[in-house]
Amino acid sequence: MFSKRLDRITPSATLEMTAKAAELRSQGIDVLNFSVGEPDFNTPPHIVNAAIDAMNQGFTKYTPGSGTSELKQAVCEKLSRDNNLNYITDNIIVSCGGKHALYNACQVLFEEGDEVIIFSPYWVSFPDFVSVTGANPVFVNTIASKQYEPDFDDLKSKISRKTKGIIINSPSNPTGGVWSDIAIQETLQIALEHDLWVFSDECYEQLVYGAKFKSIATFTDKTDKILTFQSCSKTYAMTGWRIGYTAGAAPIIKAMAKLQGQSTSCPNSIAQYAAIAALTGDQTIIQEMAAIFKKRRQLIINGLNSIDGITCEKPKGAFYVFPNISTFLNKSYQNILIKSSHDLSMLLLDKTFVVTVAGDCFGAPENIRFSYATSDEVILKMIDRIKPIFDSIK
Ligand code: PLP
Repeated sequence: MFSKRLDRITPSATLEMTAKAAELRSQGIDVLNFSVGEPDFNTPPHIVNAAIDAMNQGFTKYTPGSGTSELKQAVCEKLSRDNNLNYITDNIIVSCGGKHALYNACQVLFEEGDEVIIFSPYWVSFPDFVSVTGANPVFVNTIASKQYEPDFDDLKSKISRKTKGIIINSPSNPTGGVWSDIAIQETLQIALEHDLWVFSDECYEQLVYGAKFKSIATFTDKTDKILTFQSCSKTYAMTGWRIGYTAGAAPIIKAMAKLQGQSTSCPNSIAQYAAIAALTGDQTIIQEMAAIFKKRRQLIINGLNSIDGITCEKPKGAFYVFPNISTFLNKSYQNILIKSSHDLSMLLLDKTFVVTVAGDCFGAPENIRFSYATSDEVILKMIDRIKPIFDSIK
């Protein structure tokens, strides 16, 4: 009845867990939600006020499909200011979130017979973006103890004549890993040698702790096949506003605009207006949020590592930790056998009302993702709740 295309899509596991948490909460249960992929802060007032102004001024109509020229100009200024990337408005398309931008780019570039390299663990949406085009995702291993940088032998062995693109996501969802300059250079060199399209998903670019983020396109002069994806979502606590953007060579940006014009018409006009305030207004909010995340990161890592059997690396970015829980697999809690990280995640939900996301859906069957976009108090409460469960798994 439905198209074959639909069969190539797996429902988003993270959104599924978020829905489960909401359902339990609506029953009055004290749910501790560590599954959310969004900051727990409100959108800053100057951004909200810009949206109100936009509505009052009648900025409520269709805009050009690829975004207003004012917002594209603001994106160019932002990229130059924060990322040392120099683009003009012809190199920019604004989409309904970074997700939409990545989806569009895959639609425009990949098709049946192509292969696209994805580093595992990966953000749940990457394989689906690729497979819905008819192309095949090809997974490359990474090294957990090295911020999930690529296993370069595996990368080289996975490139074939069919490989058309490579998707890099540093800082990463789900691991929080941030690649070193050397790892980026080596990956870029391999990509350039094989004439691949390089996607750099930089939606967590402002959440790097103890180092300055460097956009991948600044590592080379050969930027024709590099697409930079960024978003207002995580940076300005604007996940619901749905504004993301892509920077790249004018022909590919034009192609993405052609597709977008016939699918979504344009991103929301009010949100575009607010995004200008976000990108050009006071940026101190970003450092304030990042400082809070950094503190929470230590709290959650200490808590998780205090549980016997859990190993939690210290990721350098984003707001996720991705502990290894393999010692608990194929063991039992009371009479419940834990066969997978999904079983463990469900056990935590059933017994402690702590919501996590199992690593299986990120291509990491020995891990569980915790988002620490929540208060210190909730983090401490969560550790208190889950510790006795882990201590009783035999
Ligand atoms: N890329 C990664 C790695 C993400 O984790 C997300 C959201 O969770 C996105 C892109 C898309 O974010 P948005 O569509 O809200 O800009």
